[in-house]
Amino acid sequence: MSALIIDGKKIAAEIREEIKKEVEKLKAEHGITPGLATILVGDDPASISYVKAKQNVAKKLGFYSVQENLPADTSEEELLELIRRYNKDSSIHGILVQLPLPKHINEERVIMEIVPEKDVDGFHPVNLGNLVRGKPTFVPCTPLGVMVMLEKIGCEVEGKEVVIVGRSNIVGKPLAILLFQKSKPVGNATVTVCHTATRDLAFHTKRADILIVAVGKPKLITADMVKEGAVVIDVGVNRIGQTPEGKAILCGDVDFEKVKEKASAITPVPGGVGPMTITMLMKNTLEAAKRMVKK
Ligand code: NAP
Repeated sequence: MSALIIDGKKIAAEIREEIKKEVEKLKAEHGITPGLATILVGDDPASISYVKAKQNVAKKLGFYSVQENLPADTSEEELLELIRRYNKDSSIHGILVQLPLPKHINEERVIMEIVPEKDVDGFHPVNLGNLVRGKPTFVPCTPLGVMVMLEKIGCEVEGKEVVIVGRSNIVGKPLAILLFQKSKPVGNATVTVCHTATRDLAFHTKRADILIVAVGKPKLITADMVKEGAVVIDVGVNRIGQTPEGKAILCGDVDFEKVKEKASAITPVPGGVGPMTITMLMKNTLEAAKRMVKK
């Protein structure tokens, strides 16, 4: 069996079209242009490329977008002051601080400084608390992207065994909450979360109807660890080299070539979850702007 290759780019493009139309409507009917401020500290190449991609999509969809590139030696107080400025700026509805930050800056303090109404990454404890309680909130972009992707491919989730490998605050943990939440169409699953203290990883992954991997280790998941017919979502992005032109060569956490022969559906890397993440950032920013109308 060869799996359905889930085309994240195509799904994301369709959603972006919808967002673009909503942005036009919001402008025409209420004179509001969704505004996104992205803040980058330092010159980590991966972060630079992520922020650039986010800004490009924001502009293409008709958002007002501002990009702040701060030097690596920016003090924590300077960064917090900038966030406070955008918190008060009514033309900005979403603030995104690209992580990771340089070691001298306390990430927790930075996340806490963004007002929850502009926390379009969904990392603020207020938003995470709402997520746990099953209340409307800004859901972190990658988990939201995975949920939307499962819905778009018509993957039945209710009652399924879902195994998530990785328990980070930005991917694994929120994803587990979304998947076991008593909601439809893509909640109500039985969820197992694996991590470095999991004794027998393969025992769990082999039971999964839906296997989601967010670790950051190339080809950690091999074909013998996957159940025949499973849906496999590979969140991992690993830089394993460079093309002669200097472009990063990427791979996921799943041995794609071998696992695709066993799975019923699988995401590629690149072109799987990545485009969904950026699109969900736009969706959250649009939502933040729409809330201004409701006020
Ligand atoms: P992270 O914070 O480093 O967390 C990695 C998780 O994997 C941790 O929970 C860790 O366990 C677990 N882990 C590590 N080695 C393991 C092993 N051998 N077996 C089982 N679990 C293991 O990473 P992250 O921020 O969640 O990102 C994970 C990957 O997703 C990275 O490659 C990242 O680049 C990618 N990512 C992609 C997108 C996208 O849009 N496509 C977005 C975000 C992240 P412990 O908790 O025990 O340490």
